Amino acid sequence: MAGAAVPGRLGGRLRWHTAELVERRAESATAATLVFDVDGWPGHLAGQHVDVRLTAEDGYSAQRSYSVASASGGERVELTVQRVADGEVSPYLAEEMAPGDLAELRGPVGGWFVWRTEQTEPVLLVAGGSGLVPLMSMVRTRRAAGSRVPFRLLYSVRGPADRLYAGELARADPGLDVTLLYTRTAPDGLPREPGRLTPEDLVQYGWPADFEPTCYVCGPTGFVEKAATYLVMLGHAPERVRTERFGPTGG
Ligand SMILES: Cc1cc2nc3c(=O)[nH]c(=O)nc-3n(C[C@H](O)[C@H](O)[C@H](O)COP(=O)(O)OP(=O)(O)OC[C@H]3O[C@@H](n4cnc5c(N)ncnc54)[C@H](O)[C@@H]3O)c2cc1C
Repeated sequence: MAGAAVPGRLGGRLRWHTAELVERRAESATAATLVFDVDGWPGHLAGQHVDVRLTAEDGYSAQRSYSVASASGGERVELTVQRVADGEVSPYLAEEMAPGDLAELRGPVGGWFVWRTEQTEPVLLVAGGSGLVPLMSMVRTRRAAGSRVPFRLLYSVRGPADRLYAGELARADPGLDVTLLYTRTAPDGLPREPGRLTPEDLVQYGWPADFEPTCYVCGPTGFVEKAATYLVMLGHAPERVRTERFGPTGG
């Protein structure tokens, strides 16, 4: 019966899957990418996230959300975790978890903050800090699909040492323009003074509103609220500005 497939699929998303860490690589001084082999993983779309649950030997457990960094369609799930000072879960994931260790994953979650390869309009990606992670999945999905949709990425980051995926983003990817906006320390010789994202940055490095791009904004709540407000102020239709906030989650 066709209808039975829907509860089945939803059930898969709500179910906790056992995930084994198979690889961990440093992404910056304070962030790491974790590659998981997930038992029965249904696959994900670019932009979606998962819930990660860790359980201690005494039964105490903690759960947080993390965006999937890898391109859609892969069988493994890659997450990039930025260590939050005094955080409970992120220091363990970013620094301690070792290949062979187990966690549980649930998802993928989210149907609005996604980019599908069938989309043809220009795309503007605006990332603050680790908010780059789901946008990187979109960049990788575009590349893997051989899509020619023009992408522009504005990536706001404290300084050169904090950049995620620095090598990958420096490599040529035709049709993808990457602009780094440093907030505290910038390499010598850049015309832009270090500082937070401004409407002028979006005018200079983004798309004009009349190109009707879909805009994806992700990062800490304050960053996302500012960036989305500026985009609408610059004439982008609110329904074309999709946002994901990396506020605290779980418990
Ligand atoms: C949909 C979604 C997707 C996310 N994807 C990612 C991702 O791909 N990579 C990633 O690194 N994080 C991501 N996060 C954030 C992540 O869920 C955790 O909030 C973060 O890792 C901190 O968890 P913690 O247990 O270390 O800190 P907690 O123990 O929860 O918090 C410790 C302290 O840090 C503050 N804090 C908590 N979260 C943040 C934050 N994100 N930024 C700044 N301060 C914070 C708290 O207010 C508190 O003061 C995502 C969040 C959401 C909602």
